[in-house]
Amino acid sequence: MAEPTYQEMTDDQKAITEMVRQFVDEQILPNAEQYDHEDKFPEPIVEQMKELGLFGVTIPEEYGGMGLDLTTYAMIVEELSRGWISISGVVNTHFIGSYLLMKFGSDEQKQTYLPRMATGEVRAAFSLSEPEMGSDVQALKTSAKKDDDGNWEINGQKMWVTNGLGSTLVFLLAKSDPDADPRYRGMTCFITEKEPWAHENTGEWAGLTVPPQIKKMGYKGVESTELVYDGYKCSPDRILGGEEAGLNKGFGQMMDALEVGRVNVAARGVGIAQRALELALRYSQERKAFGKPIAQHQAIQFKLADMATKIEAARLVTRKACMMKDAGIRSDLEAGMAKLIASETGKECVEDCFRIHGGYGYSKEYEVERLYRDAPLLLIGEGTSEIQRMVIGKKLLERHKI
Ligand SMILES: Cc1cc2nc3c(=O)[nH]c(=O)nc-3n(C[C@H](O)[C@H](O)[C@H](O)COP(=O)(O)OP(=O)(O)OC[C@H]3O[C@@H](n4cnc5c(N)ncnc54)[C@H](O)[C@@H]3O)c2cc1C
Repeated sequence: MAEPTYQEMTDDQKAITEMVRQFVDEQILPNAEQYDHEDKFPEPIVEQMKELGLFGVTIPEEYGGMGLDLTTYAMIVEELSRGWISISGVVNTHFIGSYLLMKFGSDEQKQTYLPRMATGEVRAAFSLSEPEMGSDVQALKTSAKKDDDGNWEINGQKMWVTNGLGSTLVFLLAKSDPDADPRYRGMTCFITEKEPWAHENTGEWAGLTVPPQIKKMGYKGVESTELVYDGYKCSPDRILGGEEAGLNKGFGQMMDALEVGRVNVAARGVGIAQRALELALRYSQERKAFGKPIAQHQAIQFKLADMATKIEAARLVTRKACMMKDAGIRSDLEAGMAKLIASETGKECVEDCFRIHGGYGYSKEYEVERLYRDAPLLLIGEGTSEIQRMVIGKKLLERHKI
């Protein structure tokens, strides 16, 4: 009689995640500590990721990508984040940018950008946040005003732009109709181009300055920057979808993209939690206290049990949100749940791992110290846990209206 089998992944998903896991074990884990310590962009790792095609995972094959679905992408992100969440940060905003283009871009915009995005030659950033605005996107101040020459002039300051310096494209939300009521109907997504790694842009991209990187407690290596738009000119064909179709449609487009962004952050939470579990399992069997490995103490075993259980749950919710989106079913509620449970699981598992390491967890000699500084970011990016609860609560009531 055939052995009963249970397949969590398709053969293709298994093959690609195994390939990425090997890459993480060989290239990312041995080097992450140094890059983190120096807060240095991991250029050689990013170059290898380009060769592996990891910048084009979800971009259709006709544009040179792999044409894989969100579910497989999330599996890859989990593996990368198991190595170092900064690496997944390099691809995350790029993935959101390509999603925006694939879903809302004009044919000309897709032809212009997607092939170079698939190879990683061009990287994308995604910019909503401003110094005085994060959760409350409708309080956006950055303005876009149409000039007599037909171009749009952008003025304003953006904050916390991941890949803000190294990117070539910034998908930027700006207020294009200051009188719109409600305010979200007056916002447009502009595809703003810039010189990668240049602080001062000149020529056709003059008017965009990238101030020095924001110094952070973790999530090192990948740049988080402000962006200052001061008289930056954007031609109307760089409105996402084209001027006719895209003007004043930016809020909905960006919110749609945030839904996949949330699933992506959820996968990162699962990945960092998985790494914390691996480290905790190893250390707890090596370290002895009271005459036996600490893993033999029930209090430690309970921690390990809780970690493993929470990770399984977070992974499954994340997968469900991805599979619904791939099936074309509305998944905003599930994406919010996945982001909430997985980011909190990431933080909790890293803290348990830290506790299991005792004093050594506080030492820079041990990997968990980096995880401890990295994990909290996931509670904030793509909407805080409070905002996820607001989304979940609202959607629940909509779906179960009496
Ligand atoms: C390292 C890093 C990278 C980032 N990358 C990007 C990026 O690439 N692009 C981008 O656009 N943004 C990015 N962000 C910004 C991020 O999305 C915001 O920080 C996040 O949305 C929260 O906004 P805020 O920081 O302004 O907090 P606020 O909105 O000011 O919130 C502060 C606190 O109030 C709570 N709060 C707010 N409103 C409510 C409410 N109605 N009810 C209950 N509680 C509430 C929040 O949950 C939070 O606890 C990044 C942030 C960081 C730290």
